[in-house]
Amino acid sequence: MTLTKRDFLVSSAAVGTITILPFRANAAAHSPHTFKTDSGDITVRPISHASFILETPMGAIWCDPVGDPALYADMPDPALIAVTHRHGDHFNAEVLNSTGDVPIITNGDVHAMMDDALKGRTAVIGNGEGTDQGALRIDAIPAYNLAEDKQKFHPKARGDNGYILTMGDFRIYVSGDTEDIPEMRALEDIDLAFVCMNLPYTMTADAAASAVAEFKPKFVYPYHYRGKDNGTQDPAVFAKAVGDASKVRLADWYPDNDSI
Ligand code: ZN
Ligand code: ZN
Repeated sequence: MTLTKRDFLVSSAAVGTITILPFRANAAAHSPHTFKTDSGDITVRPISHASFILETPMGAIWCDPVGDPALYADMPDPALIAVTHRHGDHFNAEVLNSTGDVPIITNGDVHAMMDDALKGRTAVIGNGEGTDQGALRIDAIPAYNLAEDKQKFHPKARGDNGYILTMGDFRIYVSGDTEDIPEMRALEDIDLAFVCMNLPYTMTADAAASAVAEFKPKFVYPYHYRGKDNGTQDPAVFAKAVGDASKVRLADWYPDNDSI
């Protein structure tokens, strides 16, 4: 299905307007960035590590919301939640259960871990599949480790998801946890990308930058960059390596300084 701007606007009207609550000072510190698109403004609100919120004309999309539910108290209520895979820095049943009856998108592996209440409002899409949620198109692409010694983290066979969210002609890529896989390098026409990096679980800043230089999103956020055993990657190193291939947007992904 090809979405036109008109489709988007018509469907957005049906969905209703988003509610913007007054933000506390600490919420403002999450450094929202707004992107102007033909379909309206899209504002990025980093929460922490892999968790963030996209405010869109059709409502707020919560991506991998985990952590203390209080982190979300002042954020716009979700219209949709996307969960990439089973790990605790991406999937948290308590946060999901705190969000009312909002549709959730995830893979079959996470669905199998859910209680019946969560299962009842979840649509499963696997790698290569997609779904329309109102005016939003969501396609899942693979997210996995390439290195033999990292197969215990994100084996391809488990079917962890990365997502491409399409609103009108604006395309957003959310990497999930992955290395610089061919499926990422082959992406085209991405306007805004969120690309993970950390060791030992995903990849180095240089590997992430190499992939970004190949698929050339217009804008890119390095995220999910704190790691274990000196595995934290420096987003400034990533930005320098990306150079002119994409406009790098840095945000404070660890505002409480106690996340992973
Ligand atoms: Zn993971
Ligand atoms: Zn992760």
